[in-house]
This record gives sequence, structure tokens and C-alpha cells, in this order.
Amino acid sequence: MAGSDGAYTPGDGPMAGVLADMPEVFGRLLDQHVPDRLGRCTACRNAGSGVVWPCTLHQIATRASALHASR
Ligand SMILES: [Zn+2]
Repeated sequence: MAGSDGAYTPGDGPMAGVLADMPEVFGRLLDQHVPDRLGRCTACRNAGSGVVWPCTLHQIATRASALHASR
């Protein structure tokens, strides 16, 4: 994975295309990566400091879901 320098948009990257064929995977991501009352991702928060939702993984999963639905 590339670093997070801001120029890379996760939802448009290759990960979404890969996950589009794995509905059980992006479905789990969409279930787990939800905002808390402060608008921060509950799943990513467990891995470190607060991440503003939608987080990278949720953006990818959302894109994957859209790709999957369009197939
Ligand atoms: Zn997250």
C-alpha cells in the first residue's frame, strides 16, 4: 500500500476492485467501520488514535460495494 500523502484516493485504488469480488469481506468492513457519536471510526480507533469517519477502509468498502452492485 502507498503512504498516506493525501494524493492517493483509496476509494479509487485497486483495493476496491479486488474487494468487489469479496462481498463477505467488504460487508464485514461496512459493519465494523461505523462512526461513533464524535464522528470517528470505532474500528480504526481501536488501532490507535481517533480516525475521522469515513475512514480509508470504509471508503474502500463503500466503493467495492458499489462496484459489486453494478456487476
Ligand atoms: Zn475504520
